[in-house]
Amino acid sequence: MSGEDLPVADVWFGVEDVGEGVTRLTEPHVDGLVSANLWWIRGQKHDVVVDTGLGVASLRQHLPEVLAHDTLAVVSHSHLDHAGGAHEFDRVAVHALEEDAVASPSQASLHARTEVDLLGLALPDDADLPESLLRALPAPGYDVASYAVRPATVNRALVDGDVIDLGDRRLRILHLPGHTPGSIVVLDEDLAWLYTGDVMYDGALFDEMFGADIPSYVASMRRLLDLDVTLVHPGHDESFGADRMHAIGEAYLTLRSGS
Ligand SMILES: [Zn+2]
Repeated sequence: MSGEDLPVADVWFGVEDVGEGVTRLTEPHVDGLVSANLWWIRGQKHDVVVDTGLGVASLRQHLPEVLAHDTLAVVSHSHLDHAGGAHEFDRVAVHALEEDAVASPSQASLHARTEVDLLGLALPDDADLPESLLRALPAPGYDVASYAVRPATVNRALVDGDVIDLGDRRLRILHLPGHTPGSIVVLDEDLAWLYTGDVMYDGALFDEMFGADIPSYVASMRRLLDLDVTLVHPGHDESFGADRMHAIGEAYLTLRSGS
């Protein structure tokens, strides 16, 4: 798989203003399995980006303004589609339990079946997987087979309850393990907006891959549903409100704990 049969994308990142000084960045040429949202949150003292994408295209090159304001990358967990671009940031924060995984990433692949196996995702053998996780190349001559997540310099190890102070807004870190041991969500308490990474999005939640733990996920989901939230900005797919958040969370609890 060299990728030479893929077209070259004109523009790599999707950019969508969601209001309140927050911009959603997407990678529309990436297969849905690993096409994540990046949330650029502007602050008075500095900016924050929650999650950093696959790292196949340079944020610094394509969207330099995202990194221009002493921007701190807050990585929700160490999977490739969230941590792949972290190496471009001078300041990176991740939960203490996944600091090593971001500083010394494990093998990753853009070959879909290989990556599914590396993640330990329990998809059926006949699942309709594409060959490549890219639908277009970020640049002419990009070598899909050479993909690797590059090591990032982590300079803040987060724990539950930490606050990131942007001057005019404060972001609270909640440790909600289950998808991975160090999964976090980020709560803007003034807006009641919750950035959930892979803890919650409007789709099938992955709780049986390597590092996942269903009892932890159940406890995390209960805690999440207790939060006062008006809008969820997830790690994948579209944002949704409190009613949908409760429907997703309660469906998960019914599936996994019978409650
Ligand atoms: Zn993940």
